[in-house]
Amino acid sequence: MFDYLIVGAGFAGSVLAERLASVSNKKVLIIDQRDHIGGNAYDYFNKQGILIHKYGPHIFHTNSKKVFDYLSEFTQWRQYEHRVLASVDGQLVPIPINQNTINKLYGLNLSCSEIEGFFESKAEKRERVLTSEDVVVNKVGRELYEKFFKNYTRKQWDLDPSELDASVTARVPTRTNRDDRYFTDTYQAMPLHGYTHMFRKMLSHPNIKVMLNTDYREIADVIPYKVMIYTGPIDAYFNYCYGRLPYRSLEFKFETYDMKTYQPTGTVNYPNEHAYTRTTEFKYLTGQSHDKTTIVYEFPKAEGDPYYPIPRPENAEIYKKYQRLANAMTNTYFTGRLATYKYYNMDQVVAQSLTLFEKVSQQQSEKHVNGQKIYQHT
Ligand SMILES: Cc1cc2nc3c(=O)[nH]c(=O)nc-3n(C[C@H](O)[C@H](O)[C@H](O)COP(=O)(O)OP(=O)(O)OC[C@H]3O[C@@H](n4cnc5c(N)ncnc54)[C@H](O)[C@@H]3O)c2cc1C
Repeated sequence: MFDYLIVGAGFAGSVLAERLASVSNKKVLIIDQRDHIGGNAYDYFNKQGILIHKYGPHIFHTNSKKVFDYLSEFTQWRQYEHRVLASVDGQLVPIPINQNTINKLYGLNLSCSEIEGFFESKAEKRERVLTSEDVVVNKVGRELYEKFFKNYTRKQWDLDPSELDASVTARVPTRTNRDDRYFTDTYQAMPLHGYTHMFRKMLSHPNIKVMLNTDYREIADVIPYKVMIYTGPIDAYFNYCYGRLPYRSLEFKFETYDMKTYQPTGTVNYPNEHAYTRTTEFKYLTGQSHDKTTIVYEFPKAEGDPYYPIPRPENAEIYKKYQRLANAMTNTYFTGRLATYKYYNMDQVVAQSLTLFEKVSQQQSEKHVNGQKIYQHT
């Protein structure tokens, strides 16, 4: 008898497995339908010996000391600040748009305060900022919107930014200084030996059994357990009874080149040319020294693995219906990006799982006090 069956061995499931096993001394079975742990953060050495991320580049960044300290129990870190250039008008310029972007693009030499004035003079103020187009046009005007955002977003989502929730482009700030880092979080670092190495340490507790290549439906009726924590797609759990929650997918094309360095920075975005959106060179992220280098090209697709929930009001409505079913369940908890239909960064998923662990522990001890044998999801 396992105390917990955890479906999915990504960040959401692995953090809970580790906490329940080591803090609460529970017996945990964690399963994944894939042939590896780590979920979408899985990395491995390819046949040329270069450490790559199977599901696209994953860069760790967080403002949460709690999350960083927690993960530090399982990994050492390599400081890494990610930088991205965008290919626009035949030049490579920093994105998020900053002082250098504008000066290089327009052959100017504006100071910080002049850049502020530049944005103000271009901005088309909108009364209501509802869509992804509104966010950018309202801040920097139509020309920069068209050069950097419009086509990139269309490629990525197959939707015009005017059809997408404001949250999508609101993720990318605009700066008036020269700060060319993609993220400004307090903690920006990569696991020194990679994500998979870190996950192995998290799951190495004797109370945890890992089962791979297994859909939970194959074993849920056969292996006894008390409580399920489900981190897969919520619509699949309920047999798509309200229809499928739409996702955007990606196809990754990996190329290894016989050269030390391929591009000038970790990622280059291509808003206006090529079918792919961006190229990432893993050695920048991992710090690995190697005579060759591996690049990943990302081709957005409608079909395939569910990667990005599509943030539109009608999809949020479908999710709410599933959420109501989930909330009514006893002994089953739903967490992680697929089970909550939210685009979460890794640190947000870790934080969510740490919070759920507190809740589960509390409910469990309350049931003990009440003399009940099973835990209930209230
Ligand atoms: C292309 C891309 C790039 C990203 N880059 C970053 C980044 O740079 N920085 C960042 O912080 N975040 C990034 N993210 C987000 C990051 O991937 C997620 O935050 C994280 O992976 C979420 O973890 P999770 O455990 O919720 O989900 P997942 O990692 O998806 O894990 C869920 C697991 O459940 C398993 N599963 C599903 N259904 C079943 C079933 N029926 N039976 C058994 N197993 C099942 C799946 O196989 C999967 O392994 C990126 C995401 C994508 C798509």
